[in-house]
Amino acid sequence: MNKLRPSVLILLGSITFSALSLGFTLIVHYWMVRLTVLLVIAIPLVSGVFAYFIFYYLLKQFIQQRLGLIYRSIRNKEPLNASIDRMVASAELDVANWEEGQSTEIIKLKEQEAFRREFLGNLAHELKTPVFSIQGYILTLLDGGLDNPTVNKSFLERASKATDRMATILDDLDHITQLEVNELSLFQRPFDLSELVTEIIDSLELLAKEKEIQVSKKKDYSTINVVGDREKIGQVFTNLINNAIFYGNKGGYCRIGFNYFDDIIECEISDDGPGIDSSHLPRIFERFYRVEKSRSRNEGGSGLGLAIAKHIIESHGHKILVKSTIGQGSNFYFNLNRSKNNLPQSSRGVPLK
Ligand code: ADP
Repeated sequence: MNKLRPSVLILLGSITFSALSLGFTLIVHYWMVRLTVLLVIAIPLVSGVFAYFIFYYLLKQFIQQRLGLIYRSIRNKEPLNASIDRMVASAELDVANWEEGQSTEIIKLKEQEAFRREFLGNLAHELKTPVFSIQGYILTLLDGGLDNPTVNKSFLERASKATDRMATILDDLDHITQLEVNELSLFQRPFDLSELVTEIIDSLELLAKEKEIQVSKKKDYSTINVVGDREKIGQVFTNLINNAIFYGNKGGYCRIGFNYFDDIIECEISDDGPGIDSSHLPRIFERFYRVEKSRSRNEGGSGLGLAIAKHIIESHGHKILVKSTIGQGSNFYFNLNRSKNNLPQSSRGVPLK
């Protein structure tokens, strides 16, 4: 019964009505007034047809009115105005889609809630370390350390380092939030990637020297015309090269290479550092995810560098990938669109007309 279409149910109802009408006509015919054969056949037939149309009309009005109420309250639209069968079938389909949409929405909300909780937990954890150390140094200084010339300056310096660390975390956090808010406001234009990477290698020279890490391009590339937001792509290279230096082994290297494809340039940043265990690889682009929890937390990185890089590359329509082997090093890859526009440009990448 559940599976029957409404029009078939109405038909069955009308046939039953016709049969009753036939019985009634026969009673009249045999016990009251003699009727012609035509009338005996026509009366039940016509009443059955009438019953069909009346049932159909009434039921359609009823369903349309009730569905209208439901549709307006959950979907803000009117139900389909068609045959009863199509109206009911489309309502069933709409309810199934609505249910699916609701459960996807619930899953999404639960994920967002879990993400929010984890994010706040991580943020609190990140800020706790420098805040506690600043607190410790200040208390020691107040407890008499201020008059002790052997510790007072060094404690102040350490407290100042901890405030720098907090500032780095907050800066990166601000940066990633800005990226999310202004998702679509990339300033994309053609520029020379090779020149940009040279600038970044130069800016990190001092840091690299301190760690005795040799940072260089794989070979001497001539102009590489790409399209993108120069400043943000520069941030990606800075974060990746910075990590290669920060996590690299003394005396190691970091190389930046480019592979050319039709309308794409593949960028590769590789190092011979400690590598990342495969169990961590799927998560290293998450905010605040750390492989070595204790060490890097006290030593500079905000835990947001790779999350920022991923965000920037994805907003350029590409993906960032990593391959790494423990003890051998790490390779980060991402693509950029080649520029079809080879107009002469200024050193900052602005096309010169
Ligand atoms: P952090 O501020 O901790 O460097 P990132 O988001 O830049 O945050 O990196 C996330 C984690 O990935 C780091 O804590 C580090 O363990 C690991 N990592 C990133 N780059 C490298 C690399 N080149 N070699 C080894 N480990 C790396």
